[in-house]
Amino acid sequence: MSVAAPRRGAAQGAATGALALRADGWLASARRVPSPHCDARPPGTAIDLLLIHNISLPPGVFGGDAIERLFASTLADGGDPFLATLRGLRVSAHFLLRRDGEIVQFVSVHERAWHAGASRFAGRVGCNDFSVGIELEGSDFVPFADAQYTALARLTRALRAALPLAAVRGHSDVAPCRKTDPGPFFDWPRYARAARLPARWLPPAARA
Ligand SMILES: [Zn+2]
Repeated sequence: MSVAAPRRGAAQGAATGALALRADGWLASARRVPSPHCDARPPGTAIDLLLIHNISLPPGVFGGDAIERLFASTLADGGDPFLATLRGLRVSAHFLLRRDGEIVQFVSVHERAWHAGASRFAGRVGCNDFSVGIELEGSDFVPFADAQYTALARLTRALRAALPLAAVRGHSDVAPCRKTDPGPFFDWPRYARAARLPARWLPPAARA
């Protein structure tokens, strides 16, 4: 027998109910942690690409606040030797999906977040100009959580309803010599099914 009981995150993590992107480019229901690591997109740029990443700080450690602090420029290394190497790094993403499916937003999608670095997609360089960056809290070495796929699908649908998106790629697709994320554990077919994405939106290797 099971008894339905309210639990933390249940409302945001539920599969029903659409998320809404406001006209100012912020998701109505996301937790907001504003990042100074952003600037204006080039005028007239169509936002037509979703870029999927993974991140964990320190690497392989989940659940802390280091990612949010890195993006918000409030990271103190606390003596951690890896975090110390990130000092002065100015990066961000539009969204972070925590392991429990919580959606954190750092930058309005109308602004340019700094997540892709040197990158190329469909003959265009500098993917930050025309993409929305979504970080999944995770790594190249462990599966992502069910709640993250649910949140990613809901977020994708909300972004699709508001932006002229036409493709999704992983960071490794647009910066193949430098980046490996979202990595081998990101299940593209599962994501595509959950978000109801056309096959043509996916990286060629994920279209099988
Ligand atoms: Zn990345």
